[in-house]
Amino acid sequence: MPPGGPGTSTSMPELPEVETLKRDLDKDVVGKRIKSVTVEGERSTRRHADKQEFIDKLEARKITGVERRGKYLLLRLEGGDVLVAHLGMSGQLLRGKGGVRDPDPKHTHVVFTFTQGGLLRFVDPRTFGEVFVTTPEELEAEVPELAHLGFDPVDDMMSWVRFGELLTARKGKLKALLMDQKFVAGIGNIYSDEILWAAGLRYDRSSETLSSQEVRRLYRAMVETLQDAIKHRGSSLADEQYRDLFGAVGEYQKEHKVYDRAGQACRRCRSTIVKVKVNGRGSFLCEQCQV
Ligand SMILES: [Zn+2]
Repeated sequence: MPPGGPGTSTSMPELPEVETLKRDLDKDVVGKRIKSVTVEGERSTRRHADKQEFIDKLEARKITGVERRGKYLLLRLEGGDVLVAHLGMSGQLLRGKGGVRDPDPKHTHVVFTFTQGGLLRFVDPRTFGEVFVTTPEELEAEVPELAHLGFDPVDDMMSWVRFGELLTARKGKLKALLMDQKFVAGIGNIYSDEILWAAGLRYDRSSETLSSQEVRRLYRAMVETLQDAIKHRGSSLADEQYRDLFGAVGEYQKEHKVYDRAGQACRRCRSTIVKVKVNGRGSFLCEQCQV
């Protein structure tokens, strides 16, 4: 079943969830040296010829930095390589202590043990996620999506005037456009709905029809919604699939204004939130507030 599809409360990690993990990794994992790596099964490391090739590129290397590009996490390694992690639909990066008191949870595919003690697990029940090592030069050839990634709504500053020019040039429906990674990076089904509610715009408005005031509202809604979601450490839906580095669920689902709230009252006008199908996905809106 597709994430966020009808009748489900599952979701894929989007920018706020991946950014939360990035910040956790920056505080807790950067600076540590990898002592050993174990790989269970080879689906998570499928880009490598075999698991030993993956392991050999990591053991004894220090993690020197972390960045996020769209929904991808890039861990810089001493010597120049990059460990790339993509969570897919259900992937988690979890810190652990290891040992008899902290056995690997189910669906642990890769374990990185640090010389300083402790470990980092890649856990992924549905195995759409992956981890692999590449060089900065080969990264975009490995992940063509990264070569065509649109602007980052959190990291890249842009004037709303420029944003309006991009919207006009694309002539697309707003929700589809917000979810188009080539237009703007990192937004998926949850945050596109939340952003459009905050902006007071419908999912099916065509981007070139927006007044300058609406463009400004949309830009502000996008930046503020994502920043607020990061502040609340992302959204974990009923499946609680999304966890931060320490295994805790996010808090932003409690702040959702429309997503997964069909039948409930709009927090702005008290009308009933409705669910519609947009490109096969369940989407939520207030038909009073969003025009
Ligand atoms: Zn409303």
